[in-house]
This record gives sequence, C-alpha cells and structure tokens, in this order.
Amino acid sequence: MATPERRGLELRNVSKFYGDIAAMDDVSLTVEPGRFLTLLGPSGSGKTTILMSIAGFVQPSRGDILLDGKTITGLPAEKRNFGMVFQGYALFPNMTVGQNIAFPLKVRGLDANMIGSRVTSLLELVRMGHLKARRPNEISGGQQQRVALARALAFQPDLLLLDEPLSALDRKLRAELQWELKSLHERVGTTFIYVTHDQDEALSMSDEIVILRDGKIVQRGAPPDLYNRPASRFVANFLGGSNFLSGRIEEADSREFRYTVNGYPFLQAGPSGDREPAQGVLVAISPEKIAMSNTPPDGETNAIEGRIGSFSYYGDSFHFQVETEPLGRVEVKTPAWRCAVEPVAGNRVWLTWSPDASIPVIDD
Ligand code: ADP
Ligand code: MG
Repeated sequence: MATPERRGLELRNVSKFYGDIAAMDDVSLTVEPGRFLTLLGPSGSGKTTILMSIAGFVQPSRGDILLDGKTITGLPAEKRNFGMVFQGYALFPNMTVGQNIAFPLKVRGLDANMIGSRVTSLLELVRMGHLKARRPNEISGGQQQRVALARALAFQPDLLLLDEPLSALDRKLRAELQWELKSLHERVGTTFIYVTHDQDEALSMSDEIVILRDGKIVQRGAPPDLYNRPASRFVANFLGGSNFLSGRIEEADSREFRYTVNGYPFLQAGPSGDREPAQGVLVAISPEKIAMSNTPPDGETNAIEGRIGSFSYYGDSFHFQVETEPLGRVEVKTPAWRCAVEPVAGNRVWLTWSPDASIPVIDD
C-alpha cells in the first residue's frame, strides 16, 4: 500500500526537445509503488526518451520528475536507486553468471557473505542456479536476459526500468519470459516500468498501459479497459486492428444511438453523450467480436451479408476478409475449432455483433 513515504513516481509536464522534435511532449504521469506499468507506442513515439529521463540519462527540457514526493529531475543517474534492463543483454562477457549478478553488490561495498547469499537467492528467483559458473557466451539469449534481470534487481532498486527487454528473443521464448516477468514482478513487489511496441506483450503483463503517440500520452488504463474502450481510431487500431464504421447519427438517447452507413441501419449501446441526429460518427469493432454464420440471423440488430473474400488459418483461429456492400471489407477473427462457417472463398456469410461490442471513437 502507498504510504506517505512511498508515493511512487511522478512526471509533471515533462518535455524533451531535440531541435524542432518533441521526443516527449508535456507528459504527466503517476506510477504507484509496486505497479507494473507499460509504455506502449509505435517506434519513435518517445518511449525510450521517457524511460531514459526517469533513469536520469536524459535531462528533460521542461517539467519535473519526483520520487516519493521529492524532485529527482537533476539527480545524476548513479544516485537514483533504479535498475535497468535493455534489449541487448549487456552482461560482462568475461565474468560468470554469478559474478555478473554480484557486480553491483560489490560496487556498493557489501561484504562477501552477504553478496554470496544474495546472489544465491537471485539465481533462484530467475531459475538460473545451475548455471552460476557459466559465462554469458555459454548460455542462451533467454538465459542471458534472466541474468540481466537478476543483476538489475540485485540491489533492490526502487524501480526497475525495462526497455524492450524481450524483443531480441524468438516468439516462443518471448512468451515464456512474459510469464516469468509477470511472476517475478509479483514476487519481488518492485515497481516495473516496461517499454514495448508489442501490444500483446503490453496487454498480457501490465497492471496499466500508457499509450504514446508523437511524444504524447493519448490514453492510459488497465488492459481490458483500453482494449474494450479505446478512445480513438489510433488506439483501437494499435491495440486490436479494428474495423471502422463511418456513419451518420439518426436517433440518440441516453442509452443508445442509431446510425446508418451507406443507408444501412446500425445500433450502438451506451450513452450517446452530446451526439445529435445528422452528425457524423466513427464506430470501431474488433474482428473477434463479430459472429459469422451460414444462415441469415433472426432479428439481429447489427447484421450484414457478405462473401468470404480471403482467409488465413492460424491453427487456433481463422482470419477472414469478408466483402460486404454496406461496409466494404470487414475483418473477422473466429476460433478455428468447430468454426461456424465453412472457410471457402466466395461463400455467402452473415455477420452480426451486439450493440455493446462496438464502440464510438474519435477520428484522429
Ligand atoms: P521510441 O523509444 O518510442 O522508439 P524514442 O524515445 O527513441 O522513441 O524517440 C522519440 C523521438 O525522438 C524520435 O523521433 C527520435 O528520432 C527522437 N530522438 C530520440 N533521441 C534523440 C536524440 N538523442 N537526438 C535527436 N532526436 C532524438
Ligand atoms: Mg525505444
């Protein structure tokens, strides 16, 4: 729990300019102690700049960074008690696994016994005890990254900063280390600030995600909130590769609104806000929230007919491109096992979705 002494990390209106480029543009952010927060955004959106300014390697042009209520904006990196893990493993090649983990403890002048027992428990934490005497070139990439994690956690940092630490690993290993990182976070209780451009990684590990675009925060929230309630076209697209319906409001009240696209009627659940008839509206619907069937649906509200254009099989799912008259091409993802429709290009299908499966978004 947050106590007055442990208020966590706070960025107040922090910006960083490189000439005309704002790598970080008026970023304000609080991170409560013990959280797993992920900075997610495309390449060049400012993730590394934010992390480096928290670490103390980048000096902000403007704004303030505070830890537990005290400013650390001008504090040199080595005076901040933060651990870091990067994409490259950056282990000392001439030291064993054990010596690598012991290094930061030696630098801090701990006595040999203390270092020995701490190294043993850190090796256990990352399941590397049996490889203590190996050198970095004698272990795999995933194992090297585990050692880097143990080393970064050795001096019990206030914060662990991770910049795309898994991106050099293959897909299977990455998925495995995602589980491990999450479980490690739960066991050590340190605040993790994680940077990635991979939405699956962000969704599966984080307590909270901050989405960045052009150095600015565009939305933040818990993974299901962000995924199910994106505020903008950008977020909907970045997280889920949504379909978008660009329509016109016909009727709106406090519970729902009706809209049309190319004259076809659709229904959207939820308060219509200040939407009024005749206004334009953009609605996003994720491909897996659309149901497909071979037979015409019975009195469904959002129902359209189409033909399977093309499809791909992924083992666990099918991804269909369905050509429709009202909406053009619609992408649908559906479990492959006992798939409701036969996957044959040209076949006629019906698409339906419930009025609360879609969401109105800002067109940015
Ligand atoms: P990300 O980590 O999300 O890929 P970065 O924080 O590395 O993004 O970069 C954000 C923007 O700032 C990019 O446009 C990048 O080119 C620019 N930038 C970052 N560091 C520097 C630098 N040292 N000098 C000039 N431009 C930089
Ligand atoms: Mg980066």
